Amino acid sequence: AKQQGRNTWQWYEGDERRNISEHALLRHDLYTALCENQFELYYQPIVDAVSGRIRSVEALVRWHHPRHGLVSPGIFIPIAEQTGQIIPLGRWVLRQACQNLADLHAKGERVFPVAVNISSLQFRRDGFLDELRRILDETGLPSELLELEMTESILLGGAKQAIEMIRTLRGMNITVAIDDFGTGFSSLSYLRDLPIHKIKLDRAFIRDMLTNHSNAAIVQGIIAMAHHMGLVVVAEGVEEHEQQQDLIRRGCDLLQGFHFAKPMPLESLRALPDLLPVD
Ligand code: C2E
Ligand code: CA
Ligand code: CA
Ligand code: CA
Repeated sequence: AKQQGRNTWQWYEGDERRNISEHALLRHDLYTALCENQFELYYQPIVDAVSGRIRSVEALVRWHHPRHGLVSPGIFIPIAEQTGQIIPLGRWVLRQACQNLADLHAKGERVFPVAVNISSLQFRRDGFLDELRRILDETGLPSELLELEMTESILLGGAKQAIEMIRTLRGMNITVAIDDFGTGFSSLSYLRDLPIHKIKLDRAFIRDMLTNHSNAAIVQGIIAMAHHMGLVVVAEGVEEHEQQQDLIRRGCDLLQGFHFAKPMPLESLRALPDLLPVD
């Protein structure tokens, strides 16, 4: 853990001090975190690669831990998946994101489609689609404003069922994106069968594509393949102008990263201009 000023601990993946007893403590604290309202959704803009205009936002959960400060979801989401807490937490995230955007919509404010991360455990559980319909119904968010981001691990429980469910989502006008694309283990052939709309290139590829020729070739190949299949490509983790230029040249459609904006509370999102200033 790294101390980030008074009373704020940021926990990172791969941190040596993240050990079993810290996990056990966090796991315990997760049980009370939901009822004590310790979670908040941040939103990060996703922009048109060329114009820089905001096209959608991704909801990213934050945990304000009473003693550790901000704990990274890279740490607590895996714990929540181990304990099953991801089910109530995932439901909260989905409802909160829909409610936040529906509220803006109802007030006549500018809205963007909101992308929500869905754990594959959550997706594969019976009743997920019913729960989703209920949340859309109760919050009043138009379904065209909802996108779901899932990793290819949704296929592990049976590809046929996942394909069937995604087809249903498509019928409901909900956009589906495959997250962390290129980092999983499944063969690329599954893409042909999945009725998805988007793929998100993992930050690992973007990070060193300017210096690593193989990564640049992979990015180039994925974009070409995705476009052949009529899919939209999003690059995550864009931190520099040079990466933006390179991704534009390779035909990437949408970009997300600190170069444009970091994840931020809803109030800050509302104050953003349509066109983000970049240096
Ligand atoms: P992800 O879905 O791949 O989300 C992108 C992560 O990259 C976010 O980290 C975001 O803050 C970070 N990021 C975006 N642009 C940049 C950049 O330019 N540079 C760097 N260094 N990082 C960038 P975050 O918010 O810490 O979330 C980590 C992971 O936790 C997410 O990865 C996702 O897998 C999971 N997660 C976050 N919120 C939720 C949620 O509500 N539900 C579920 N199931 N998982 C979530
Ligand atoms: Ca994501
Ligand atoms: Ca990622
Ligand atoms: Ca992820």
